[in-house]
Amino acid sequence: MKIASIIVDVPSSSTNQTYDYLVPEKYREMITPGMRVTVPFGPRKIMGFVVQLKDETTLTKLKELHEVLDITPVLTDELLKLGEFVAKKTISLYITVFQTMLPQVLKSQYTKDLVRETDEFLSPELEELFAGRESIPFEEFTASSISYYHLQKQIEAGNITIYYHVKSRITKKQLTMVQLDVSEMRALETLEDLSKQAKKQKELIQYLIEHPEPIEQAKLVKLLDTSAQTVKTLVSKGIVKTFQQEVFRDPYKNQPIEQTEAFELTDEQAAAMDPIISSIDEKEDNVFLLHGVTGSGKTEIYLQSIQHVISKGQEAIVLVPEISLTPQMVRRFKGRFGSNVAVMHSGLSAGEKYDEWRKIQQKQVQVVVGARSAIFAPFSNIGIIIIDEEHETTYKQEDQPRYHARDVAIERAKNHHCPVVMGSATPSLESFARAKKGVYKLLTLYNRTNRQQMPSVEIVDMRKELHAGNRTMFSTSLMESMKACMERGEQIVLLLNRRGYSTFIMCRDCGHVSECPHCDIALTYHKNNHRLKCHYCSYEQAVPNHCPSCESDLIRYFGTGTQRVEESLAKLLPEARVIRMDVDTTRRKGSHEKLLKQFSEKKADILLGTQMIAKGLDFKDVTLVGVLSADSMLHLPDFRSAERTFQLLTQVSGRAGRHELAGNVIVQTYTPEHYSVTYAAEHNFLDFYKHEMAVRKAFQYPPFVFLVLITVSHENHARAVQVAGEIVKQLSHVVAPGTTVLGPTPSTIARIKDRYRYQCMIKYKHEPNLIPYLEHIQSAYADEIRKQTLQLSIDTQPYYMM
Ligand code: ADP
Ligand code: ZN
Ligand code: ZN
Repeated sequence: MKIASIIVDVPSSSTNQTYDYLVPEKYREMITPGMRVTVPFGPRKIMGFVVQLKDETTLTKLKELHEVLDITPVLTDELLKLGEFVAKKTISLYITVFQTMLPQVLKSQYTKDLVRETDEFLSPELEELFAGRESIPFEEFTASSISYYHLQKQIEAGNITIYYHVKSRITKKQLTMVQLDVSEMRALETLEDLSKQAKKQKELIQYLIEHPEPIEQAKLVKLLDTSAQTVKTLVSKGIVKTFQQEVFRDPYKNQPIEQTEAFELTDEQAAAMDPIISSIDEKEDNVFLLHGVTGSGKTEIYLQSIQHVISKGQEAIVLVPEISLTPQMVRRFKGRFGSNVAVMHSGLSAGEKYDEWRKIQQKQVQVVVGARSAIFAPFSNIGIIIIDEEHETTYKQEDQPRYHARDVAIERAKNHHCPVVMGSATPSLESFARAKKGVYKLLTLYNRTNRQQMPSVEIVDMRKELHAGNRTMFSTSLMESMKACMERGEQIVLLLNRRGYSTFIMCRDCGHVSECPHCDIALTYHKNNHRLKCHYCSYEQAVPNHCPSCESDLIRYFGTGTQRVEESLAKLLPEARVIRMDVDTTRRKGSHEKLLKQFSEKKADILLGTQMIAKGLDFKDVTLVGVLSADSMLHLPDFRSAERTFQLLTQVSGRAGRHELAGNVIVQTYTPEHYSVTYAAEHNFLDFYKHEMAVRKAFQYPPFVFLVLITVSHENHARAVQVAGEIVKQLSHVVAPGTTVLGPTPSTIARIKDRYRYQCMIKYKHEPNLIPYLEHIQSAYADEIRKQTLQLSIDTQPYYMM
């Protein structure tokens, strides 16, 4: 077909439509929807996605498209259709959604190579092109007269692959490696020849003779207690050589993973898995909510359901929250399915992510385990979609397109006629309510597989501690338990629930708090470089010596960061070996895994950290979990704060006593009577659910209503207020009778990066024309949005009300 409808890479609502282009002769046989192309657009040449091919158009003067960038489509027909669904549902641009579905590499600058994959004769013209080489630059192909169609056939047959080299600006970390540059014989001769004084050189050569594999220079120098100069001397003599090697980025690649066998399911597990299996067999797009306490064997059910899917020749997507995509979790999937698994998480480099994506695209694997965006895996025969820790808010993307992976999963399941299984020990209220109504099918696991008791939870009232004269952050009970635990040679996890807290500085004389000059928020104190930073923009400054307001020099640090807990532990429990895990200590790549490994090897007694340690971790010697500030989230202006507190406390108590040793949990709180704390202590999800539902009903919050959050921001305060006001007014006129439009009110953080922020909220039960209304609002301000003076964010499923 000779005309292609194309979505162009111009992110604006006025270009959010298809444009028709004429397909040049040489591409006609091979072009298909889902390929990327370059097209002339005004004076520029830009990228676009082919979404449709046709022979007719209403336009009279067509421009030719420039170049087809892909030989095999990067988006399947289903993904193109899904993209449309996501764009509509989240009021996003098509181009933004398509870009989101693809690995970063395909959005950046790259060059392409054609790589020969077979020794068989290809074809006379291709043989001439390759001319005996294994790989050739793609440009040589385009310069030749060989047809794209011909190449495409060879690629489909697997005889040739295309390889993308990213012109990455991220400099990869390199290691200097050392190796002998001469034969062993020559090296032995050199040993003889060297003078007695050259002891260090001799040792080094001796070592390299015994260990012929390349070794990292830094390691070698340390090992032999020598210096880089010794290496250099030997290099200049031509005995050893050094070379650069890229640091290994895949933390799993080198670790042998033990193969595991399926367990014989418990009766409870079998009963829960039955309906999943029959859904797979019957090709029914049921949504299951698998509710079971931590350790009840949910993951085993995922694994065996996937096994069933694989044996039918189908594919499986497993979503896991980024934070619990730990090596332990990955190992469970790789242990069962080996190299049939692709893993996608943010810890991978752009190149590695692309490699994993390619394994999926080329059908080299049948399973993907990944964070949110893995829901867009380019599989074409999906048999099951699993969402573990279903309640996690990281499944919702917080910038454009603001999609929820659960919605996308359900839509894909419809496309593929397969079930979705969502698992959690603490399902979200929304999902559990839907399961109760029969929209989802509820599957329940009541017991842990090993029949192990849930750990006992002790609630400590920190107000009483204070009255009793204990001014430390550790209650007497927690301190005693930690000591006893260490004496038994067991391990401790300490969780600091830090959200809602930050370390800020305040003047003790006048109460002045240092705030960001561009955002309405206190600056956070960073101890390592003694600076104040804004967490919303990049602003930072040195810590003032005197109060900027009253000149007093009595400046105090507030908040309970993990660093402070660590310092306090060092004073009160000096014999304890502590590993601290928070954003500061895990910023470097691989450090997360490294710290966990150290802890599992018992190189520390206490693992101290923030939310990131609450999930998925499984250590057999952890018998005590302490929560330092259970209620710090409760006071956030967010209707989900009780739910989040309950979830976090339940998750973290699940960390204790998962194995033979019995577990203990101590929760420190200033609000010991709050239902989210007491029900979590009893491991009582159902009663928490009932209580929280009553609260939601009384205040008309989800799941009783749906919400839309519209945030307006503008550098001009008055304009921000005005636009927000206009929006409320417009909407109030059109919405259905039961719908309320609230606002405008200043956002919780009323100013970020010098932009004033106002918001309005829609609460509705039935609003069939909601999306058109919202689109209408967006187009009404299109001019200001395009000029970027006005920012308008519409969130049809808000999770953070800030
Ligand atoms: P969850 O995902 O609900 O936390 P897991 O699937 O991780 O639970 O199971 C908890 C533990 O029980 C794991 O160590 C797992 O290997 C083991 N397990 C799961 N199912 C069985 C079974 N049927 N028989 C024996 N052990 C099992
Ligand atoms: Zn700021
Ligand atoms: Zn002051």
